[in-house]
Amino acid sequence: MYRGKAAGRNVTRFYDPSMRTLADDRLEMESALRVALKEEQFELHYQPLFDGQQRMFGCEALLRWERPGRGQVPPTAFIRVAEECGLIQQLGDWVLRTALQQLGEFQRACPDHFEHVSINVSAYQFRTRDFVQQLEAILVNTGADPRAVVLEVTEGTVSENIDQTVAKMERLRALGVRFSVDDFGVGYSSLASLMRLPLQQLKIDRSFVRDIDNDPGDKIIIETILSMGRHLGMQIIAEGVETDTQLSFLRDRDCDGFQGYFFSHPLPADELIKRCRSGL
Ligand code: C2E
Ligand code: MG
Ligand code: MG
Repeated sequence: MYRGKAAGRNVTRFYDPSMRTLADDRLEMESALRVALKEEQFELHYQPLFDGQQRMFGCEALLRWERPGRGQVPPTAFIRVAEECGLIQQLGDWVLRTALQQLGEFQRACPDHFEHVSINVSAYQFRTRDFVQQLEAILVNTGADPRAVVLEVTEGTVSENIDQTVAKMERLRALGVRFSVDDFGVGYSSLASLMRLPLQQLKIDRSFVRDIDNDPGDKIIIETILSMGRHLGMQIIAEGVETDTQLSFLRDRDCDGFQGYFFSHPLPADELIKRCRSGL
């Protein structure tokens, strides 16, 4: 029934026993997520961002779930379920609060290296009616400087309901909050709609960076994104930089920032502070 409804209703879907297993897995994860929120099994790790002089200037908060008996579960394995069962609001709220609290500590410990913290915001979370008020309250409670907050949204998040989206973004922009388009280049948003949005940053999707060495098409895409971003006055960050060759290619073309295993994996907060203090 759910499959039929998801496919637009008024359709027929046949039952297969494998569906049962999938539905059971989903239900099991949903209840585990509820427990995880109550028992604070989540943690944020932070991956540093570097500029062309290899100076760290910020970081991205990335969610981790330490599931008892199962080890660390990656966000790609549970965000979708959290979105589908409505837990993403609560989870996203926890992420915002935790990252903004942490930002103060980062800035006190290493003031020159934390111009901003980037936080991923799910489309479901962004579209809730009181998202702006919620973030405003968290900013007040944590005392975080809104100008040091970058919200990462995907093309899908911002290209629907464009008028409402622009209105929400403008209200947060007025406080100083910045917006970044995550995984840029793999979505289906039209350039015309993107141009209407108050965006300050684009993150080139990792898939283009990965094949720089052997795919001339990806090189062209990267050069095009860089040129477009520059004309629009945006900061461009390359994701998933793993090798020296990738870094050189991007740096030679004046990409503004880099993130990836070449520099560092995401780290727990205290480890990142330690690395910062020892000069990274
Ligand atoms: P993303 O926002 O595009 O984050 C970058 C992902 O790439 C992270 O995966 C990071 O660990 C990984 N990465 C960074 N550098 C490299 C590299 O050099 N090579 C490779 N192969 N991977 C690299 P992670 O932490 O597993 O997160 C996956 C996705 O889950 C994120 O993609 C984001 O879409 C989502 N996510 C993570 N944290 C949150 C959160 O707090 N809220 C929401 N809504 N989504 C989140
Ligand atoms: Mg991101
Ligand atoms: Mg990304």
